[in-house]
Amino acid sequence: MPWADFVNHAVKPLTGMFPVKCSCCGRHGKGKNIPHLCDYCFGEVALLPGNVCSLCGRGLDFEYEIDTGDLYTCGRCLKNPPVYTQAHFALSYEGPAREMIHKLKFSGSPYLARPLAMLGRDTLVPWLDTKPEAVIVPVPLARRKLLLRGYNPTYLLARWFGKWTRLEVAEGSIRRVKNTAPQFGLKEKERRKNVKGAFKPYDPQKLRGRDVILFDDIYTTGATINECVKVINTARPARILVAALCHAGDG
Ligand SMILES: [Zn+2]
Ligand SMILES: [Zn+2]
Repeated sequence: MPWADFVNHAVKPLTGMFPVKCSCCGRHGKGKNIPHLCDYCFGEVALLPGNVCSLCGRGLDFEYEIDTGDLYTCGRCLKNPPVYTQAHFALSYEGPAREMIHKLKFSGSPYLARPLAMLGRDTLVPWLDTKPEAVIVPVPLARRKLLLRGYNPTYLLARWFGKWTRLEVAEGSIRRVKNTAPQFGLKEKERRKNVKGAFKPYDPQKLRGRDVILFDDIYTTGATINECVKVINTARPARILVAALCHAGDG
């Protein structure tokens, strides 16, 4: 029996016998908004504030009228501007988003890429749409990890944003050439040391003269991003912008 027929006749009817479980709380229930996420957990997703620094994308500690169109730069960027032109984030790395990212990365659940990307769609897509000539470059995974997991979670997320915006996703234009230790639990200085020399350009022609959107799943201290920016700069792009689904606090 061909595989497609087998799925249609044998597997699909079986899936109806098992109620859909929320990927976050594990309770039964199909959410109205996002696949694999119940409505209660959906309500717990923490969006980042609307008032953010125009350069680094972090929340500002004062309110302003967003409607005026004024752009604000935070004190940190005024003192020490970022190595990229602009950054934009959708979610705070906590609650259901954190839970789902963890499962996407470590529990062999690639199907969670779509619901996660959907959580950041309203924030990231309008921003990406203002850069119609850009190319999205997902932060690469080391070959050993790729073989172990079978997929790069960041690429799976980036692919959805590429689909919704019709921007090209240039996976493999930079590669991770060093198997680095996990950044989790390391201090900022250690993180910088850990990723130093970890990336190499692979297809610089693709990036030359273009706006490059460097895409990651979680932005923490920026050590990985800054190292990628160094490498992308050798390809002489027009600008480098940063987008990440989550921001993990005040790193
Ligand atoms: Zn739930
Ligand atoms: Zn800033």
